[in-house]
Amino acid sequence: MKSITKLFRVGPGPSSSHTIAPSNCAKAFKRLLKETNGKITVTLYGSLAFTGGGHKTQDAIIKVLDGYDVTFDLKPFEPTEHPLKMIFEYHSLDNTHSFKNTYYSLGGGEIASPDDIEVNEPNIYPFKDFNSIKAYMAENDIKTVKELCLRFEKPSVDDDLMDILKDMFKSVEDGLERKGQIITNNNPRLQYSRCAGDINKAAKHIKEQEAKREMLITSFAYAVAENSAAGCEVVTGPTCGSSGVLPSVLYYGYKYRGKTLEELRDSLYVAGMIGNIVKQNASIAGSIGGCQAEIGTASSMAAAAIAFVDGNSLYQIEYAAECAMEHFLGLSCDPVDGFVVIPCIERNGMGALRAYNAFLYAKYIAPLRTNKVSFDDVVEAMKITGDSLSDKYKETAQGGLAEILKNKNTHC
Ligand code: SF4
Repeated sequence: MKSITKLFRVGPGPSSSHTIAPSNCAKAFKRLLKETNGKITVTLYGSLAFTGGGHKTQDAIIKVLDGYDVTFDLKPFEPTEHPLKMIFEYHSLDNTHSFKNTYYSLGGGEIASPDDIEVNEPNIYPFKDFNSIKAYMAENDIKTVKELCLRFEKPSVDDDLMDILKDMFKSVEDGLERKGQIITNNNPRLQYSRCAGDINKAAKHIKEQEAKREMLITSFAYAVAENSAAGCEVVTGPTCGSSGVLPSVLYYGYKYRGKTLEELRDSLYVAGMIGNIVKQNASIAGSIGGCQAEIGTASSMAAAAIAFVDGNSLYQIEYAAECAMEHFLGLSCDPVDGFVVIPCIERNGMGALRAYNAFLYAKYIAPLRTNKVSFDDVVEAMKITGDSLSDKYKETAQGGLAEILKNKNTHC
């Protein structure tokens, strides 16, 4: 299990696996080049080839490899050992030497390579799952997830998480301010004007308190998700596609529930550990496990974070995370025309509201009955479900809403 800070990477949207990771692969490959010119062919496989256009994969790579003659070879249908595979191949201008490296995008911006081993991130936790974490905490009389993390993380982790929290809030506030169209293609269904600020203004006038809370949280989730879709900087949580979920509930806690930055920073230890467990035992990438892996995981992380900030027990925190994920099981990833707009922006709002509801169940139902499904159970179910989902529902824009609304030339 890796550092929890790796769940929260700052980078440009719209996709951590299809934008940040390819950009990181290009940076890794570039650092190995002695020449500042020459030809580079980048072969993109599977989902990266299917939806790279809408996810700005090629733009992200070209930007890093400025000065080189970059061409792309797209192989969407070729079977591969990994669903998010890229091969970078360099040829010098005089054709005297060449070399190539294979890279994989693992989800959330992380990359790995069998050829360039320095990019492979080390494990720092000796745990497999939530049960092993709880057992270690009990054996060592550790009371909180933060206390546990401080035994394994760098000494700067508290400051690093505070910076991450502030970056999340910056993204919410920035998204509420921005106006205008998100650039997509000429599909009329994908013409999208930012509306987070308008939702927020309308929410402030809602009299009914529950509805007001839900629409405020929605506006914060939209603000970040719209930023991500527009290619602005966001914090993965655990991915760009799902980056609106966690910040929205934390920002609501800060602005409307009087929670302190320190309390909210500490909730990132809990959220990060939940994301880490999913990442290690299933996947956080829509192209590997469907949207349950992105929005489902984000919702679990957010539910656990709210439960922590509200002062619930570790059992209730687990209940909240489990409950949020359980009811997203099987959720497909079907971004229309490969743009992270429909269903993604709205789905961030729903993921945030589901997180809040899961927290309420954990707070009020957990004391009345024992949850029969553990967090590890639901992660295992998610992995099995993701493995058996058709590729049509794993970020290839071939099924579901992507199939129905593909290039539809009529306005709804
Ligand atoms: S449908 Fe879900 S997993 Fe797929 S791109 Fe959108 S937010 Fe990400």
